[in-house]
Parts: sequence; C-alpha cells; structure tokens
Amino acid sequence: MPKPLLKHLKADVMKKVVILGAGFAGLHIFYKIRHLVGKSIELTVIDPRKFSLLKPSLPEVAFEGAPVSHSLVELEHTIKTKGATYIQDEAVFIDAENNTVKLKENGDIEYDYLMITVGAIKDYDAIKGFREYGYSVCDDTQAQRLWDRVKSFEGGKVVTGAAKSTWGTRVDAPPLNAPCEGPIGEIMFMLDYYLVNEKKMERKKDFSIDVFTPGEIFFEDVGDVPRNAVGKIMQERDIALHNNKVLSEIGKDFIAFEDGTKMECDLAIIIPPYSAPQFLKDSGIGDEKGFIPTDTKMRHLDYPNIFAAGDIAALAQPKLGHVAIIEGAIAAAGLLKDLGEDVEIPPHDLEVFCIMNMGGHDATLIASDVLYGGKTDVAIHSPISKMMKWGFDSYLYYNKGHMPPDIALEATDKLIKLLS
Ligand SMILES: Cc1cc2nc3c(=O)[nH]c(=O)nc-3n(C[C@H](O)[C@H](O)[C@H](O)COP(=O)(O)OP(=O)(O)OC[C@H]3O[C@@H](n4cnc5c(N)ncnc54)[C@H](O)[C@@H]3O)c2cc1C
Repeated sequence: MPKPLLKHLKADVMKKVVILGAGFAGLHIFYKIRHLVGKSIELTVIDPRKFSLLKPSLPEVAFEGAPVSHSLVELEHTIKTKGATYIQDEAVFIDAENNTVKLKENGDIEYDYLMITVGAIKDYDAIKGFREYGYSVCDDTQAQRLWDRVKSFEGGKVVTGAAKSTWGTRVDAPPLNAPCEGPIGEIMFMLDYYLVNEKKMERKKDFSIDVFTPGEIFFEDVGDVPRNAVGKIMQERDIALHNNKVLSEIGKDFIAFEDGTKMECDLAIIIPPYSAPQFLKDSGIGDEKGFIPTDTKMRHLDYPNIFAAGDIAALAQPKLGHVAIIEGAIAAAGLLKDLGEDVEIPPHDLEVFCIMNMGGHDATLIASDVLYGGKTDVAIHSPISKMMKWGFDSYLYYNKGHMPPDIALEATDKLIKLLS
C-alpha cells in the first residue's frame, strides 16, 4: 500500500531535499532545482566521492593515456557555491517510513524528499579470477590500471565483452542481458587503433581481438542499422564476435563461459555485472535485485516522496548516461511540481544516444529508440561524430557536470536528421 503523498509535511516551511549520489542523474537534478535553494528548499547533496566521475571519458584514459583529471568534477565547491550543502559521505541505510538516511560517518539526516541517484555497483568480484587476471574500464582506478597494461602489451589474444547482469521484475523495462555494450565498442575499436597506429602491430599476425556478448545479439538495445554499421567495421578490422557467451571465469591465459567453452586470452577486458548497492537491499525499498522501482514519473512505487533516476532506477534500461539525464529531468520536474512550481513533467520517452569513440578522428554516433517501439535507428560513422563527442565531454567537464542547454540538444537532433 503506497504511503499517502506527503501527509507528514508541514506547509510553508523549507522542504528538506536530499540528493544521494552526484553522478550524471544526481548533478542533473541538482542543476534543475538549484534555483529554489534558500527560497523553498534546503538542498543537501551526499556522495562519498570528492570528485564526480564522468565515465564516458574513461576509454580515453585507458586507450589514449588521457589524464583522469579530465574525467573529474569537483563537488564541494560546485555545490556550496549554489547555496546547497555537500556532505562527503556514504549512505548506509534508508528508513523510508521515517524519512531518514543513515550516513556512514555523519549520523542520520532527515528529508522531506529524497532523490536516489547512486548509480549501480560494478561487481568485479562476481567474476572468478577478475581481480588476478581481468581488466576493465568502468572506473578511474580500473581505467588507469588498464592503460598501464595496454602500454606494455606486446601482442597476443585480447578478449572483451560484458558479463551478464540480471534485473528485477517489478517494473516493465526491457530485460537486457548486458547493462550497455557501448563501452565494448569503444574498447575493441580504440585498442585496435592504438595497437595498429601507435604500436605498429599487425592484425592477425601480432594480435587478435575477440568480442563476446551474453545476448543472442550484440548491441541488443539498438536496431539493425547501428548493429550492421558496427558489424561491418568489426569485419574490416578482423574483430570476431561470439554470441550467447555468459562469462564464468578469467584465468591466467584463458577466459571461460557457462556453456563449458574456453578461449585463449592474454588480455581480458570486461564490463562486469551491474548490481544494486547492498544498502538499498538492506533498506528494503528496492525490487528483488535492489534496483529502485518507480513509475514513469520516476516516483517510487511505494514512497511518493522518493524519486530515483539513472542506473539505479529499475526503469533505466540500458544503463546509459543519456537515460540518466532524461530520467533526472523527469524526477526534477516531478519534485518542482510538488513544490508548487509551474512546470511540465517530460514524458518517459527513452532513446539510446551515444557516441562511440573509435580512436584517432574516428567515432560513430548511435541514436535509436526501436527498443521502446520507436522508428529512429541511426548510425553516423564520421569525424563529425568525434567532434560532437569532444564538444559534449568538454562542455560537461568545463561546466562542472552541467548538461548542454536544451537548444544545443535540439540542434544535435537536427544535425542527426540531416546526416542520416
Ligand atoms: C566506460 C563507460 C563509458 C560510458 N560511456 C557512455 C557514453 O558515452 N554515453 C552515455 O550516455 N553513457 C555512457 N556510460 C554510462 C554512464 O556513465 C552511466 O549510465 C551514468 O554514469 C549513470 O549515471 P548515474 O547518475 O545513474 O550514476 P553514476 O554516474 O554512477 O553516479 C552515481 C553517484 O552516486 C554515488 N554513490 C554511490 N553509492 C553511494 C552511496 N551509498 N551514498 C551516496 N552516494 C553514492 C557515486 O559515488 C557516484 O558519484 C558509460 C559507462 C561506462 C562504465
């Protein structure tokens, strides 16, 4: 039985709004509601990280040696200068009946509204042998570790792919096998580019790249156009694809799958399974896997004063920054409306939109909504895509995680239509 909407709130007092997690979704919500700070809300942002991590630039750290500092947004100054409070700490329990979050170091904090934007755990330890032999690109530590390995790689067999993730069933979201395979595209093409152009290695003779997917098809979240475009480039670069391969173990010189098969492997680069943080499972407010079940306005199905957006939201499939932004905007608008603001809540119209870096001046822009029943299915393989990625990542970095204005995003839409 859902709780009645905010019966516990007193009128005419500042509402305490807490954002848990300052990643893509949390920062987007922060920028959307900050104009009310000190007027009708007290806003607190909590994150254990001092610097928010812009994950889309991590492949440049791992395969081009870019400094990790270009993927980091400082949080304390960014948040405090907008009049909000920043607490560098980690939530360890949410008491949703009593509107309280327990923090690891700073005790309990009360809220009238809670925005849960803590992302997903990259569960490296779920893969046997990963810590000894596996590599990844999913966080700053792993990306830098991979760059060290890539620099010293003297040739051999590379295997890359996503481990299988499993999801709850409380909401109606596409049941994808992998959280998102876009980074696998970047891994295979950027590594290939680096080995051929920087290390002057020869494909087949000096190295090979094999890609596996836990799904029946690779890039299951888009339609045939991007899939075929990526497949064609893989063929041109001798990158082999293996479908229906569910990772079970990484060894010193092999990688093994649940169907009993093995591949020889000198370098395994993996997207680990995504899971919900333990504290959400302990708090009993997630679905059977701990992800937060919401309606399409991103409001918790049982607790109307809790919103969720981004990777931790059960509705967010695939787990993509673009989806986190769409959902963050919806959650922010829902909150603003509750607070009496005259805003429209955007529809939960998801699409896959990403720009796959392929090394050098090469990139492919992918825009597709066929997963959700739409007709858009575009792949633009061009240096223009690379320029757009550079522009987007730089904007985010220099504007402290602030998304480009709507007008720029509308211009992007027009450009895509023109080029496709
Ligand atoms: C290598 C890689 C490349 C990618 N490239 C792209 C791309 O090109 N385009 C794209 O759209 N998407 C891309 N993505 C996906 C994108 O990065 C994620 O979907 C996005 O970051 C999700 O945003 P989020 O806010 O939900 O979570 P996150 O960005 O992960 O942020 C979650 C925040 O919550 C904090 N947090 C965690 N636990 C707690 C806690 N207990 N208490 C308080 N705070 C907590 C974390 O420290 C973090 O700052 C990529 C992902 C990876 C791994």
